[in-house]
Amino acid sequence: MLTMNSFNFAGKKAIIRVDFNVPLNSSFEITDDSRIRAAIPTIKKILKDGGSVILMSHLGRPKEGPTEKYSLKHLIPDLKTKLGVDIKFAPDCIGEEAHTMAAALKPGEVLLLENLRFYKDEEKGNPEFAKKLAELADVYVNDAFGTAHRAHASTTIIAEFFPGKSMFGYIMENEVSSIDKVMLDPKKPFTAILGGAKVSTKITIIENLLGKVDNLIIGGGMTYTFIKAMGGHVGNSLVEEEFVEMAKTVLAKAREKGVNLYLPVDGINADKFDNDAQTSVSPIDQVPEGWMGLDIAGESIKKFSEVIENSKTILWNGPMGVFEMPNFQKGTVEIAKAIARATAKGAFSLVGGGDSVAALNQFGMTDKVSYVSTGGGALLEYIEGQVLPGIKAIRGY
Ligand code: AMP
Repeated sequence: MLTMNSFNFAGKKAIIRVDFNVPLNSSFEITDDSRIRAAIPTIKKILKDGGSVILMSHLGRPKEGPTEKYSLKHLIPDLKTKLGVDIKFAPDCIGEEAHTMAAALKPGEVLLLENLRFYKDEEKGNPEFAKKLAELADVYVNDAFGTAHRAHASTTIIAEFFPGKSMFGYIMENEVSSIDKVMLDPKKPFTAILGGAKVSTKITIIENLLGKVDNLIIGGGMTYTFIKAMGGHVGNSLVEEEFVEMAKTVLAKAREKGVNLYLPVDGINADKFDNDAQTSVSPIDQVPEGWMGLDIAGESIKKFSEVIENSKTILWNGPMGVFEMPNFQKGTVEIAKAIARATAKGAFSLVGGGDSVAALNQFGMTDKVSYVSTGGGALLEYIEGQVLPGIKAIRGY
């Protein structure tokens, strides 16, 4: 398989699928440029080699074809500053003009194509559309992990037109090798920490992880569906009634597979869903009537931290409580700190999924873990055990 570092791009035109789906304000200014920043090393390496770059991405969810609001032209000034070169812009991602502009590209030059999703063919994965994009370049680089779970024209189908000439960009390379480290070859003990609101959205992940981990820590809102399954009193805590039976099955499976499944032993309860609610601490299975559990409490933090600190591989997805409210963020903060301590002692820690990443950002702790995944949905599908089409298209599995 080709790699960014082993390939010499001199004299080549590389078409890169980037994830430039960045938030814009009403004046079309970028309010968070992290996705663009992340893609710069891949682009610069190609330019430095003496290649030229064609950038393609989606932006937002345009429904009716070309829409001013979703035009990638708004990114030109930012890209120009970051790359230090002029950015040529093709106002249609395929067609005569894009073709002519791509053909005229010289080494060191950058061409940005208009939003791929102005064509329905992109999300449909239309091979004809993919072929037209492919005709613009000599090699294909996929650096958009956030869309790797979609078999779209630019993320997957296009690779068919570059036999032996497609590769991951640096973001994809990092994501894939970090997740593989955890999912394919974890150093033991391997601990997964799952939190967040609902069991329903995490059940496939739990089932897949039961075949891999030594320890599974469950916290957050989904705790209470398990506590209910075990006959506990959960008061008004978040419970998914239709998943109570499923929770019982998970508990039995964990026993069968010899996985240590840790649920919180105590929780912080509130008399309403509000930062200023009255609070009390109780054993996790004795939430008083009318109260709801919104965070894990001291004994749980102690136990979870001990398990985490004795681990060599750690996967964390989902907060331990309603961390958006300062009075219910302690559990999440303390678990993040335990992961940081384990990482400092040499464990490999991967954190991913929207809310745990948001929590790490909020606590200023992103640099205290080994890897923070950029792909929400893509990461979750990967740890569910699914093969991601965007990855398979390049490495074959
Ligand atoms: P998810 O998207 O499933 O990872 O869920 C993240 C959300 O779960 C966050 O917005 C948290 O506020 C919420 N959450 C965590 N713990 C609880 C809890 N005990 N009760 C209700 N919501 C919770």
